[in-house]
Amino acid sequence: MCGILGIIGYEDVSRDLIYGLNCIQHRGQDSAGIVTFQDSFKTMKGLGLVNDIFNMSHVERLKANCGLGHVRYSTMGTTEVLNAQPISVNYPFGLAMVHNGNVTNYSELRKAILEDSQSLLETSNDIEIILYTLASELEKKNIKYLTPSQLFEAVEITQSRLEGSYAALAIIANKGIVGFNDPRGIRPLVLGEKTVKKGKIYALVSESTCLDYLGFKKIKDLKAGECVFIDINLKVHSKILNHKPPAFCIFEYIYFAREDSVIFNRLVAKERENMGKLLAKQIKKLNLDADIVIDVPSSSYFFASALAEGIGIPMKRALTKNNFVGRSFILPNPKDREHAVCQKLNPIKEFINGKKVAVVDDSIVRGTTSKKITSLLREAGAEKVYFISASPPIKFPCVYGVDMSIKTELIASNGEDKVAEAIGADKVIYLDLDSLKEFYNKTGFCYACFDGKYPTMVPKTLLKEIEKDREKAKLSAN
Ligand code: AMP
Repeated sequence: MCGILGIIGYEDVSRDLIYGLNCIQHRGQDSAGIVTFQDSFKTMKGLGLVNDIFNMSHVERLKANCGLGHVRYSTMGTTEVLNAQPISVNYPFGLAMVHNGNVTNYSELRKAILEDSQSLLETSNDIEIILYTLASELEKKNIKYLTPSQLFEAVEITQSRLEGSYAALAIIANKGIVGFNDPRGIRPLVLGEKTVKKGKIYALVSESTCLDYLGFKKIKDLKAGECVFIDINLKVHSKILNHKPPAFCIFEYIYFAREDSVIFNRLVAKERENMGKLLAKQIKKLNLDADIVIDVPSSSYFFASALAEGIGIPMKRALTKNNFVGRSFILPNPKDREHAVCQKLNPIKEFINGKKVAVVDDSIVRGTTSKKITSLLREAGAEKVYFISASPPIKFPCVYGVDMSIKTELIASNGEDKVAEAIGADKVIYLDLDSLKEFYNKTGFCYACFDGKYPTMVPKTLLKEIEKDREKAKLSAN
């Protein structure tokens, strides 16, 4: 998963790009980059967090009235500056691009580009494929003055060539900014506006929380297959192009999006509370003898608080988090991951000692975090540890940009019965998948990591290929 942001206005946007990327930092911490355009592209990118790479001295260097920003969470290609976004090409017009998602027919398209157009590809990142596909469709048109309908045609053909998930933003030099997503709208993208002295300026971004911070008002979430073009005169054109049954990633609500974001009129915090209530209904039937409910900070607070209220058991913040320790999930080897969890979380013994604890986390993926937390709670004197996952069991790899693409690593991939034993808990309770689907009316979402029903074509060979790519990337990070 990654975070993307594009702003176009009358005056300098570089300060807002830096601030805005900070607001979507939770979507990716591997690298960050900005490209702005005024007469020429100015690009800056690097590995690490936004604040490690950018400071206010870069505002002057990047000064322009339109620009794009990106924070990366690698799921394709290695974590190198080479694969960091944005990337640009100088034909036709000059195009720069950022994206969030995973193009699943990447290898096939890459081969075609190398063979047919004899182009040299520089990265192992699928963004380059999206960029080249759009660039060559625009080039074929051989046009001087780009109209919105010509652009929409080029994007529609691009969408029909690409498989998988993507929300992409591009600057078309001297023409404007375009944003589009895949025909099923798997990844989020929102359009916002702000009224300034000269008129309205616009932003396209992964999550609405960023608009709030930057003082923009949300206009809409892009629908599946939609394309929005904000031209150089700040006129907005939009059209739904290639449209298939929507399959928005349910994991955005569970884990990825920030709780204060609103996606398709659903506030993420509220959705997490709703899932907590579903869990409460399930757990009430089990007569669980827990004394306290505790949340794993930070993402599980809303699940845990609604669950505690629903089952009438007090909730305590009994695990403290060191916010300055980086992400444990991305570390390539299990020992380092376990160590990072220990560095990150510290139990408050006084609240735990002698208690039967129901601990709630948003998900159990490989089981590293849950195993370590269970042992930390036992060391702190917990009499029983019931581990509650706010997501249903994750049994299938995600091919759409969530870094859980190696099936054998998924602790529930062969069924959830043995998970409690594997992580050392007295019991593991997962949110029931059918209840979750029923709550969301069954349609409109991608649940593939839970039920293996991929909304796009996913041949077995593709799963193997993605697995190999991830393993290679992890080895090179070791
Ligand atoms: P694991 O330790 O592999 O079982 O991963 C589960 C933990 O990582 C939970 O505490 C989640 O909050 C977090 N998590 C779940 N999915 C992801 C993801 N795709 N990327 C990063 N962290 C995640």
